Amino acid sequence: MSVDENTPVLRGCIKLPLNKEELIEVTAKAKDYAIMHGAAMRSKTSFSPDSLNFAPFVLVPSSFPRKEFEKAIVLQPIINRLMHNVAHDEEFITTTLAETIKVDEFTANLFNIYRKVLALGFTQAYSVGLLRSDYLAHVYEGCAIKQVEINTIASSFGGIATHLVPLQNFVLRELGHAEKLQRMPKNEALAGLCDGMVKAWNIYAKPESVILFIIEDISYNICDQRFHEFYIRETYPHIKVLRRTLTEVHNEGKLGQSKELLLSGNTEVAVIYFRAGYEPGHYPTQGEWDARYLMETSLAIKCPSIQYHLAGTKKVQQALAQPAVLERFINDPEEMKAVGKIFTGLYSMDDNEVGNANYEMAMRTPEKFVLKPQREGGGNNVYGLDIPDALKRMSRVERSAWILMDLIHPPLSQGYMIRPGSDVPPQIVDMVSELGIFGVVIGDADHIIHNYQAGHMLRTKLSTANEGGVAAGLGALDSPYLI
Ligand code: ADP
Ligand code: MG
Ligand code: MG
Repeated sequence: MSVDENTPVLRGCIKLPLNKEELIEVTAKAKDYAIMHGAAMRSKTSFSPDSLNFAPFVLVPSSFPRKEFEKAIVLQPIINRLMHNVAHDEEFITTTLAETIKVDEFTANLFNIYRKVLALGFTQAYSVGLLRSDYLAHVYEGCAIKQVEINTIASSFGGIATHLVPLQNFVLRELGHAEKLQRMPKNEALAGLCDGMVKAWNIYAKPESVILFIIEDISYNICDQRFHEFYIRETYPHIKVLRRTLTEVHNEGKLGQSKELLLSGNTEVAVIYFRAGYEPGHYPTQGEWDARYLMETSLAIKCPSIQYHLAGTKKVQQALAQPAVLERFINDPEEMKAVGKIFTGLYSMDDNEVGNANYEMAMRTPEKFVLKPQREGGGNNVYGLDIPDALKRMSRVERSAWILMDLIHPPLSQGYMIRPGSDVPPQIVDMVSELGIFGVVIGDADHIIHNYQAGHMLRTKLSTANEGGVAAGLGALDSPYLI
């Protein structure tokens, strides 16, 4: 990412650099603390199901503007309701995705499931949304937060983020800065998200039924998932948690007489929590698509249901950013205004007059934009000066699979990023942070019965990186120090 030399640097939590001996000592302690408290992952380069590396982390919490953090927290229940309303607006989802699904096979496959379920009628009226709304502070607007995206499927890091606060607390105490802890907001993401699943389990109301986690063949981010599982098992010991891949559900899943989802041994599933299923690679054969369809038609409460998954697509986010569209979903003018302000420019690339004008704009001033496909999980976007070539390679119809978005310019912070195998002592680097706020919303088409904000996460990347995938090695887990 091109960083303007005038980009402001946020005031840090403590004075840097640290003295070399102190830095070496506290880094070694922090790494072990991280592994021992589950701020850890499986290694991609030397994978073993029997071992963990610490997850990349930032040694001392990065600064984030307090006012903006608090704004994001207050907005979350409004955003939860917005997404719930969007997910239940069949006409809006259908028209918004109409062009996209002509060219994007993955979204089309999801949409086909949606269409079939609509035709049959929903077996289960309730959905659970475990959402994460992501923000960057934008320096050109006084560091006001701008929404990067909202995730409605597999919103991750609630577990590890919860454990990162104690890690950075430990580091600050070791460094003699215990007084700084009070500016680190408490984070109860894990409890908030898991309680959401348990509330859904209660709605299902069958004592023997279980919560099913849909997982990838290999889960690198295993701790984050296990934290959810262990929290549920320890807090609600009567609720069992199973883990299955889509392939396994295809092989052993079936529907009972009332369309209950049954796994081998006739175990009934109350709640399905998807930690996989959000990218094409998770569906290597038709079997995995059949499994998704089977689950969608079942009585189990899905997190997310197919309509929630579609509501989280980039295309829907682009459509929502238009004030006239937002009005359809938010009645209160104050709420409308507040939500409208967090959106930055989002532009359709559809093959029509508007889309073509936007195409011209992207070709003329690509440095202002990021181009996004309908994908999740990071690493799919095209940035700035790479946009014209990418667009030229597409036909006009193919562009409909993408959206264009204004680049957000976050302020810098400085600190030590600690990664497995990285230099000791670490160097001070320029970084930028992305805040994620978790939200839980449960309801059916007519009523929302639970709606709350559920903690946060901060992901920090090198300022030179376009994206900060933690597993990809460019990003690191962090928590906000409010200034
Ligand atoms: P994904 O669903 O794959 O996570 P995102 O929309 O979150 O897709 O994009 C991935 C990353 O790209 C973000 O975490 C952020 O670092 C960067 N990014 C996305 N949109 C913008 C933007 N408008 N301005 C600056 N950076 C962005
Ligand atoms: Mg996403
Ligand atoms: Mg993202």
